Amino acid sequence: MASALSDRLSRIVKEMRGQARITESNVSDMLREVRMALLEADVALPVVRDFIARVKEKALGADVVGSLTPGQALVGIVNRELAATMGGAGPEGSAARPVVDLNLAAQPPAVILMAGLQGAGKTTTTAKLARHLIEKRKKKVLTVSGDVYRPAAIEQLKTVTAQAGAEWFPSTPEQKPADIARAALDHARRHHFDVLLVDTAGRLAIDEALMREIRELHAVLNPVETLFVVDAMQGQDAINTAKAFKEALPLTGIVLTKLDGDSRGGAALSVRAITGAPIKFAGVSEKIDGLEVFDAERHAQRVLG
Ligand code: GDP
Repeated sequence: MASALSDRLSRIVKEMRGQARITESNVSDMLREVRMALLEADVALPVVRDFIARVKEKALGADVVGSLTPGQALVGIVNRELAATMGGAGPEGSAARPVVDLNLAAQPPAVILMAGLQGAGKTTTTAKLARHLIEKRKKKVLTVSGDVYRPAAIEQLKTVTAQAGAEWFPSTPEQKPADIARAALDHARRHHFDVLLVDTAGRLAIDEALMREIRELHAVLNPVETLFVVDAMQGQDAINTAKAFKEALPLTGIVLTKLDGDSRGGAALSVRAITGAPIKFAGVSEKIDGLEVFDAERHAQRVLG
């Protein structure tokens, strides 16, 4: 059984009791524990390396002030850096900043494009976001599916859109995704929708045709948000998926789904670091209200175990 990072850190704090300063050698002992814990939480190796390097630099430069012991000071640095890495401030930032919800600053309809692999939770998340926009931001919301490969996916979006209390724009497998996008955009404009949520096709693995298609959709729709939906339980595999989508699209945010099933949540750190895009929401159940605005501080605590 892997021991949680918080346990490892408290052990280090104890061991470092009596040492007056943070030194190259005691910081290395501690960072070894941090590295192990992050790898056990399924954070990608290159991301772990960068993280450790940043903590080390900050720790060696830190003044240990007041009643803090060097061990406690180091734990504080690790905590802050974890939250900052996962939060809105990004890896360069010194503190976690709350992410501002969804950007809707566009000539209405503001378009939100959903990207991700099949099964990541795109369709479910589209409906959850529709509900969020209706309830929290009082918006008039239209959804449309560009998944012309799976008629069931179009039907699924219709069903969950009704649950969300939003409107659904019909599409059929005979249409081209770009034509569906144009028609939905036109409908949204003429009927004064505030937001158009565009669900897209996914594949079980990344392929070039899928990426071309979603780039074309992006060009047609000019979305104000391009959200990468990723399954937190994908662990290490999330890294390759994140890389491929980041290369294909200018991502503006991440939705991390199925956090309810993921014990440690290391994927958050990896995906955030690899895409550079902020994690905006977390999926926490299959239900329509199972969506939370991502809280980096709280998630950092979770990764710490
Ligand atoms: P898509 O292929 O990307 O559109 O994925 P779907 O929206 O169809 O979701 C795939 C499966 O994951 C469905 O069974 C969803 O109910 C489930 N799912 C989506 N988001 C969450 C979540 O946050 N938590 C849990 N537990 N299940 C989720």
